[in-house]
Amino acid sequence: MTTLLYHTDAYQRTCTATVTGHSSEGNGIILDQTIAYCTSGGQPHDTGTIAAAGQEYTLVEVKKTPDGVVHILAGESRPALGSSVIVTIDWERRYRLMRTHTAMHLLCGVVFRDYGALVTGGNMDIDEGRLDFEISDFTPELAQRIVDAVNVEVAANRPLAVKILPRAEAFAIPDLIRTKINLLPDGIAEIRTVNIVGLDLQADGGTHVAATGEVGTVTLLKTRSKGATNKRIIVGLA
Ligand SMILES: [Zn+2]
Repeated sequence: MTTLLYHTDAYQRTCTATVTGHSSEGNGIILDQTIAYCTSGGQPHDTGTIAAAGQEYTLVEVKKTPDGVVHILAGESRPALGSSVIVTIDWERRYRLMRTHTAMHLLCGVVFRDYGALVTGGNMDIDEGRLDFEISDFTPELAQRIVDAVNVEVAANRPLAVKILPRAEAFAIPDLIRTKINLLPDGIAEIRTVNIVGLDLQADGGTHVAATGEVGTVTLLKTRSKGATNKRIIVGLA
């Protein structure tokens, strides 16, 4: 099991670690701990470098595999088992993904607060993201009103609080699961929650900015109808 340091500090850009395994496929290593985000919950993985014994490897991907959380390195060589390494992430990429992820929660929070709508799907990339909602009477004008309300929440500079709670305590929070389907597997003992204080509290594994003002201006890029009540909002970050 790799300790995911970004679950408790999204602003850490470098960490030391020990190589605990080699992936069975590809040029990958498994570490005891990492700050490099592993693709999940719609947020893409980090990139960066991994240094070991005077050699620097390029980190191209971090993904969950049956072996565990695997750091995929460019080329064909990798640090030996047991070696100490330094992981450094591409901070610009990560920070833009943090801003985008928080923007998605602002969108989710505003749509739930103002329209009671649940998320049916979503995805994000650098400076752009989309969410699908179960919402009726949807028009591009309504989407623009929603994005305007998101920017009000950006301007309010609400703080974000991340907490890891025992399962029973987390499930006592009303509306914690904002996706239409509960994606949390049975049997997890602890649940990480991300709270945009005063707006949106949900179970989440992503990395977020410390306050909503860091998101910057959010713009409506596109809307799409995916069905009678299933509507898509695509937003961009300035
Ligand atoms: Zn999220």
